[in-house]
Amino acid sequence: MVRYSVITEKNPREIVLLRGSGCRWKKCRFCDYHLDFSKDEEANYRLNQEALSNVTGAYHSLEVINSGSFCELDDGTMDAIETVCREKKIDVLRFESHWMYRKKIPLLKERFAGSGIQVKIKMGVETFDETFREETMEKGMKGVAPEEIARYAQEVCLLFGFSGQTEETMERDIRTGLAHFERICVNLMNPNTAPLQPDQEVIRLFQSRVYPRYRENPRVDILVENTEFGVG
Ligand code: SF4
Repeated sequence: MVRYSVITEKNPREIVLLRGSGCRWKKCRFCDYHLDFSKDEEANYRLNQEALSNVTGAYHSLEVINSGSFCELDDGTMDAIETVCREKKIDVLRFESHWMYRKKIPLLKERFAGSGIQVKIKMGVETFDETFREETMEKGMKGVAPEEIARYAQEVCLLFGFSGQTEETMERDIRTGLAHFERICVNLMNPNTAPLQPDQEVIRLFQSRVYPRYRENPRVDILVENTEFGVG
């Protein structure tokens, strides 16, 4: 598992893939990366410190991902993140969060603001089509509108490549994302061990019709392979 990388394009930043106690939701029907977890806090802390020791502060921007949400990282790791941000002069720090932890976000932002660090939240929303998101994907965000999400998250992840998604639905998701959030990250579904698997026709449709329109957009990250940020 590669746990540190540098993203040099569009929104340059360093990125670390840390390990937490495990996603508490675990129900998304396309996901198996919640398997990267351990209940051993001490072991997680050691592993995470090792990943964080690579951070140089080259872009004053750091993204922390952990196959779950920031709330699932142990206290020692959170302290280590804060220390490395202060030492390496990180101004912008991104964390991932599931919707269910939204009430904990203000306190997180407040904590890091005390060290002069701006926290941005990246939330996995996958699609703004609520029926598809809840009935097919089981995301756990029933009845949640984009405006409400934008009260907590500055960026969202979208996930394309399933039967039922069309050029129109993918385009609409991207437009909605760009209308409400600073940046969006489009992931294409890669085959894994989860019940919901990619439809190659839909992937091809995205690549030929939608991708060319957003490839150069500085507010849109597009991950054809889920390891394209260099971690995973
Ligand atoms: S996509 Fe995120 S929230 Fe959903 S099960 Fe996987 S780790 Fe948990």
